[in-house]
Amino acid sequence: MPFPVNTADELLHWCMKTGMGISEIVLENEHSWRTEKETKDGLLNIWKVMGECIYRGCHAPGMLPGGLNVKRRADALNKKYLSGKTYTDYNSWIETIKLGGNNFQYTLDWVSCFALAVNEENASFGRVVTAPTNGAAGVIPAVLMYYIIFCNGKSSEQIIQFLLTASEVGSIFKKGATISAAMGGCQAEIGVSSAMAAAALTECLGGTQRQTLMAAEIAMEHHLGLTCDPIGGLVQIPCIERNTMGAIKAITASQLALQSTPDFAKVSLDSVIKTMWDTAIDMNSKYKETADGGLAVNVPLGLSEC
Ligand code: SF4
Repeated sequence: MPFPVNTADELLHWCMKTGMGISEIVLENEHSWRTEKETKDGLLNIWKVMGECIYRGCHAPGMLPGGLNVKRRADALNKKYLSGKTYTDYNSWIETIKLGGNNFQYTLDWVSCFALAVNEENASFGRVVTAPTNGAAGVIPAVLMYYIIFCNGKSSEQIIQFLLTASEVGSIFKKGATISAAMGGCQAEIGVSSAMAAAALTECLGGTQRQTLMAAEIAMEHHLGLTCDPIGGLVQIPCIERNTMGAIKAITASQLALQSTPDFAKVSLDSVIKTMWDTAIDMNSKYKETADGGLAVNVPLGLSEC
């Protein structure tokens, strides 16, 4: 690869040396394996699957399988938010959402709904894009959909830029720590997906390379220590709602970074990745996807709804 990267510092080094954005560095590296067209077509296909997953999840009522009796919520929320409005397909659905404007509460409602939709699909064996895991598959689609609908990031090139940057941040976490809840708890799943989304959104909204990495750092810093304790061993509670939290934290982290001067940041992305890994090593195995601790033992099975 023209720009080998194992750490955030190395990535920043190539950005400073070339003047290229993070997504441009990633695209050049991808050329080692495939043509630019193949990379871009592949990324747009990933977004197509993500978008279809959100749409399906927003139109699927009923209960989730597994015995916890968890009711799907995205369908009802979608109906509530679009009450009285009509649409016929995915594209007209997006245009209809846009007509509602972008006040804070409306935007917040939709970001959560997008994340819920994806993870309800995941919990019912629907098709999702692993990003970076299935349990955390809702964060990146929710933030990318937020960018498209509420920040007007509608061009194919902007979607490609978002996914290139997100993927690089995920890759750095994988090299320096883990993206496995069985090794690191939920900080490795929701935390990493939030950091990926925060960085991607920041670059797409015009942030510098350092602000982009800063956004990833902020998002992870506030997921450190997050345990994995799924009730009944099912990826439903707390997992589905947790994706809404990851998405909102990503947007907040991005805004903070965009309004900040990285020169004054005390914590680098590499140091938070090391901290995450140290925390993963110290974390009791009860909190690593075993369903032996936390909510998994303190909440009785057979809840009617959470
Ligand atoms: S609690 Fe565990 S299973 Fe659920 S999303 Fe987090 S890491 Fe995945």
